[in-house]
Amino acid sequence: MKLSPKIQKRISELQVDSYSGYELSLEKICKELNLACFEADLDDGLSGLLLKEGESYSIYVNNNHAFSRQRFTIAHEIGHYVSYLMNSFSKDELEKEGRFEDKAVTFRKDGAYSDAETEANMIAAELLMPKEKVAELLKQELSPEEMADLFYVSPSAMTIRLQTLYPSLSII
Ligand SMILES: [Zn+2]
Repeated sequence: MKLSPKIQKRISELQVDSYSGYELSLEKICKELNLACFEADLDDGLSGLLLKEGESYSIYVNNNHAFSRQRFTIAHEIGHYVSYLMNSFSKDELEKEGRFEDKAVTFRKDGAYSDAETEANMIAAELLMPKEKVAELLKQELSPEEMADLFYVSPSAMTIRLQTLYPSLSII
């Protein structure tokens, strides 16, 4: 799957002035999209939720999970919301159910997900680890762990991002 041009464009707009160094400010993105974001003591199997509450939408993230994982979950829920706004794969389900429940969101590149989940993961990856910034760091020959620290993501999310962007690169 590839992100549609209109979603790419929306992501690019959201990315403007949203980083300090390499770290994405999820707070700023949520503010821009008028999304409330809460930490919650969720069941261990649940990473996060996107919930319609009245006329607005809120994100709940499992505060028992590691910081980098929480960041990916929030970015993933933002992904569902952007997809919904742009009439893409998350629209129907969110309109019908009023919510997305994400059980243990992991960032995989295999096709074991619905289109809505795959797309939300792709949006999350681009927000947290933008293509251009990854290319910059690769030129400086940083290791995946060093890059993960700069982006505030987990090393496994970083490795999968590198494998997706550079399939021919051998990453240890
Ligand atoms: Zn999801």
